[in-house]
Amino acid sequence: MKEKDYLLETCKHCGNKGLLKIVANYKQPYDEIEDYSVVFSSDTTWLLLECPVCNGISLYKTYTDDTMVIPNGYELDVSMEYPGSKYDFQNVPKSILESYQAVIKTSKVDLSICLIAVRRVLEKICKERGSKEKTLDAMLKEMVNIHILPETLDQCSFLIRKLGNSGAHGDDIDILQSDILELIDFIETILYYIYELPVKIARMNNKYSLKLENKTDTDKKTLE
Ligand SMILES: [Zn+2]
Repeated sequence: MKEKDYLLETCKHCGNKGLLKIVANYKQPYDEIEDYSVVFSSDTTWLLLECPVCNGISLYKTYTDDTMVIPNGYELDVSMEYPGSKYDFQNVPKSILESYQAVIKTSKVDLSICLIAVRRVLEKICKERGSKEKTLDAMLKEMVNIHILPETLDQCSFLIRKLGNSGAHGDDIDILQSDILELIDFIETILYYIYELPVKIARMNNKYSLKLENKTDTDKKTLE
């Protein structure tokens, strides 16, 4: 097995994390030229991947450009373009990310267990943001009160909590696969809003040299 023919990634069709086979590879270099010299260049690579477990096909993208300099070279933006989970989570804490991945895995297998997993993600987010409350209900209220979660997302959270309770208590609830997909969408939005968006905004600001005043605070918003 040649390493360059495979990529260690999670298949979003089935949740399998493993070596996905690279079945096609396309590079798209770009140079912007002014007065006969290159003033900006970027590199985009597209990989078509096949999952050995479910045979699902995914499209993976890497991107880098001149502005993305880091001490040992260039930063690489990676994203799974298809199948669409809208977001690529690079700044979500590991333990929360693992719980989120459990949601994705169980969503194909057991909806009640999946609901419990959804609840667990929410609890972990609240704890990571410093909540000392005992119940998820109280934790979420606190998150909204101190503006870590906006009120609109709290309404999604309310739904998640309701459904999660039903899962945890083994109630006989009618839940459709499509409802589960909606819930996953809510969870992803919350993760993106709390962990990814601040980093992206900070990066954008840095890019245009608008240094944030309290730069050390941008990555993490916690209870003071
Ligand atoms: Zn798969």
